Amino acid sequence: MTTRILEGKEFARQFKEDAGKKAAEWKEKYGMAPGLAVIIVGENPASQVYVRNKHKSCEELGIHSEVIAMPEETTKEELIARIDALNEDKKIHGILVQLPLPKQIAAHEAEILNRIAPVKDVDGFHPVNVGRLVTGEEGLVPCTPAGCIRMLELAGIPMDGKKAVVIGRSNIVGKPMFHLLLARNATVTVCHSHTQNLAEITRDADILVAAIGKPKFVTADMVKPGATVIDVGINRIAPKKLVGDVDFEQVKEVAGAITPVPGGVGLLTVAMLMQNVVKAMEMQMQMR
Ligand code: NAD
Repeated sequence: MTTRILEGKEFARQFKEDAGKKAAEWKEKYGMAPGLAVIIVGENPASQVYVRNKHKSCEELGIHSEVIAMPEETTKEELIARIDALNEDKKIHGILVQLPLPKQIAAHEAEILNRIAPVKDVDGFHPVNVGRLVTGEEGLVPCTPAGCIRMLELAGIPMDGKKAVVIGRSNIVGKPMFHLLLARNATVTVCHSHTQNLAEITRDADILVAAIGKPKFVTADMVKPGATVIDVGINRIAPKKLVGDVDFEQVKEVAGAITPVPGGVGLLTVAMLMQNVVKAMEMQMQMR
């Protein structure tokens, strides 16, 4: 049996194509393109790269994009005032605050992010959107886990009735992944740093999701033959070398399907963000 390599590039292209079509449709229907505003505070080089990528994707797809660069010494009040103005701005349908925030405001991260109107919260971090995900109502879902699920759907990998194991319980990846898999009728187990006999649990999984942040943590002996393995991890082990949370070379010999790092889940996140922006616009237009 040959292992299927789930290439992020192909899925990201499809997500973007769908988002671009919707953006054109909304422009025709509402006389205005969907709009994304990204606030970046300070000069973190990695954040600048991420923000540039988001801006570029918007431009490619006909989505209006504003990058709001605020100085390192911005206060919580100044940042909140900027968010309030964007919440009222009719051209803007999605708002992102690029993390991490500088240290003088980092402690207020939750208060700052929660100021974004839930309907414009394209990161899906607001408690209102988290609540909607848990109760199964329509809302905005964090981009990385939403991208993984959409990839599984497009790849035709069944989730209904399957055993899924998620390693990691962060608010950004692990927990939303749990709810998304549950909503698709998988039987889901979430493992974390206090889990005992981890390998025994992961070996039972038809779908194994690794979101840990530890290089090559998942080894072949932890994977059931034929399982689908989704590697969310991005770990820089040398200046130009990224690896996932899964030991790809080993695990690809056992898995039925696997995402590589780089070139896997990492490419889905920005593409999914584009889908969230067009979705946010539709939600806002229906509220008017
Ligand atoms: P996090 O640090 O918030 O959470 C890590 C989780 O791993 C925790 O819940 C912890 O309990 C669990 N964990 C740690 N050690 C463990 C162990 N020994 N056994 C079992 N569980 C253990 O991280 P995060 O934000 O969820 O990110 C996870 C990884 O995914 C990171 O590498 C991050 O860079 C990457 N990531 C990628 C994308 C993307 O676009 N592809 C997006 C977000 C995060």
